[in-house]
Amino acid sequence: MTESGAERTIFERIAAREIPADIVAENDRVIAFHDIAPKAPVHVVVTPKHAQYRDVVELAQGDPALLAELVAVARDVAADLADGDFRLVFNTGGGAGQTVFHVHAHVLAGGLGEGSLAG
Ligand code: AMP
Repeated sequence: MTESGAERTIFERIAAREIPADIVAENDRVIAFHDIAPKAPVHVVVTPKHAQYRDVVELAQGDPALLAELVAVARDVAADLADGDFRLVFNTGGGAGQTVFHVHAHVLAGGLGEGSLAG
C-alpha cells in the first residue's frame, strides 16, 4: 500500500498474487520475478513487497537494511539462475528510464560482455 492509501503499484499487485508473474525468490519483505521484457539472458526484478520508497535514494536513506536485503536476494538469484556474476541496475528518475516508481533493482546476468553497460 502506498502511504496515501492510493492505488497500489504493479509490483505490490504481483506480490499479492493479483497479477501473475514468474516469481523466482521471495522472503518476508522482498520479492523477485522475471522481467516481462528481458534485456539480458537473465533479467530479474527484485523489489520490496511494499511501495513505501519510490527509488533507491529514498530507500538508502529510509531503510538501508532493506536495501541490503535487496542486494542479498539479487546475489542469490544470480547464483541460482546464472554463474553468480551479475549487474545490478536501479533506474532512478524518468530521465534515467524509471517507469515504475516503486523501488526495484534489475538483476542482469548470463554471459554479459564488457562495454555493454547502456543499451
Ligand atoms: P523501470 O523501467 O526501471 O521502472 O523498470 C520497470 C520494469 O518492470 C521494466 O523492465 C518492465 O519490463 C518491468 N515490468 C513491468 N510490468 C511487469 C510485469 N507485469 N511483470 C514483470 N515485469 C514487469
